[in-house]
Amino acid sequence: MREQRLAVAVVDPMGEGLVAVRAGSELDVDVRLESVHEGILATAEVDAIAEGECGRCLIDIALPVEVEFQELFAYHSGEAFEYEVQDDHVDLESLIRDAVVLALPFQPVCRPDCPGLDPETGLRLADHPELVTPEHVDPRWSTLAGFAASRDNGSDDASDTDQQREER
Ligand SMILES: [Zn+2]
Repeated sequence: MREQRLAVAVVDPMGEGLVAVRAGSELDVDVRLESVHEGILATAEVDAIAEGECGRCLIDIALPVEVEFQELFAYHSGEAFEYEVQDDHVDLESLIRDAVVLALPFQPVCRPDCPGLDPETGLRLADHPELVTPEHVDPRWSTLAGFAASRDNGSDDASDTDQQREER
């Protein structure tokens, strides 16, 4: 069994969405290689920083990305394995790339409750809380607002609604 901790410079950017791990940034790779009967079992933990912009308010953000995976690299045996030991080496690059890209968020946000941009002025609402009025509520809440109103017949449903909001 062998353990390695590697700092790897990213050459090709990983990801094509709003955030990506950029070329020139560094990956922290913690890998454990174990000799098993059929080959080498690789277990890796990868830490990276994805950079890009908030999907709601467009400011620059940097998000930590943490992934782990385990894969068996088989010795040549005539059987078809997806990953094989080549010249006494295991090539982790495509595994690392796939794991990192899959872990990137589709809707990255600067903070979970980022209120986005003001539809009229284009200002970032997090910097201008005075612009946040009930009419500017995120449209995705509109169904929920109708739900609360229809059930609000003087009973005490408000606390239920608050709870649902917190769960989202
Ligand atoms: Zn934001």
